[in-house]
Amino acid sequence: MPKDYLSRGGASPWFLSPPHLDKPLHIPHRSRHVPARDWTLYPGPIKPDWHALADRKGFQVHSRIRDRMHLVLDCNICAALTAHKLYTLRTANPACGGCQHRARIENALGAGLVFLHRDPEHRHHGYYRAACGHIVRRNFGFIERVMRGEVDIRCEDCLNLRDAEGARKQGWTLISCDPEGYHNYRFYEHACGHQQRVVRVNMQWGQVDCARCGSSWTARRSFIYLVRITWPDRRLSVIKLGYSANPAKRFRHQLGLGPSARIEMLRTVTLPTGHRACALEKQAHADLRKRFPDRVIPPADFAGLINVVTEIYHPDLIDHIQDRLDQIARDHPES
Ligand SMILES: [Zn+2]
Ligand SMILES: [Zn+2]
Ligand SMILES: [Zn+2]
Repeated sequence: MPKDYLSRGGASPWFLSPPHLDKPLHIPHRSRHVPARDWTLYPGPIKPDWHALADRKGFQVHSRIRDRMHLVLDCNICAALTAHKLYTLRTANPACGGCQHRARIENALGAGLVFLHRDPEHRHHGYYRAACGHIVRRNFGFIERVMRGEVDIRCEDCLNLRDAEGARKQGWTLISCDPEGYHNYRFYEHACGHQQRVVRVNMQWGQVDCARCGSSWTARRSFIYLVRITWPDRRLSVIKLGYSANPAKRFRHQLGLGPSARIEMLRTVTLPTGHRACALEKQAHADLRKRFPDRVIPPADFAGLINVVTEIYHPDLIDHIQDRLDQIARDHPES
């Protein structure tokens, strides 16, 4: 994604504000190479049959523009102005730039997104703000499919954060995508400094051995923990349920918590293996999301405060989660 995408939004080439018009003028993509200064009023009469033709196609002829071949059409539905060739009016159904823009905004909302602006380089793509707060670039047709429920918006930033978080729990650091280009692999560094490719799902489930030091985290003791994190300056208090081989060590650093965050470890339960801890924790999250969907804090609320994207809940759930941890502790007495 180009870093300067926002700055381009202001000077969008898809509509101009010629001084002689009182509204923005939408420009069809074939004419976007034309400099703004060329879109000036063209003197000359508007022929009656143009009016009749425009009316049949949902427009009024507003005025002539640029040269003898171009018109400004005023949309009967949204009253936006769009420049079109007289030839297009005669032979085709001219599109209204305003209606198209509104459709993009509405489709985005239908897909759970906020439309930000089009991609200046690719006319079928736009930038959107996802519910998680990240910005995604998608094809307009894809957004319509999301709206119809055929596909999901999968935010790459969230996926990366989740993968990095999963790796961290196993004592690995996510370095990059797979150097060999396979989508189901990622490249990781072990705590010992060794780097290797690992199937990303295996890393998420802790099924990974370091090729250098041979240490298998899954075979070692692990912990499920419940922690309360408070940002007094933000008047924000949340709880996080997670698992880790060592929840006490470098917790603040692992979660990317700033100095203002207060950490209160409420509970740890010891499990015989990391694999067991991982499975039980995933199960608990699935149940919590299903039973208390309104107590799951949306990632946008804590974006930038903690480098996880899920597993953050309202403190109301402390008692419920404690009961569940009691059950897990009873099921693993000798751990
Ligand atoms: Zn319109
Ligand atoms: Zn995201
Ligand atoms: Zn190692």
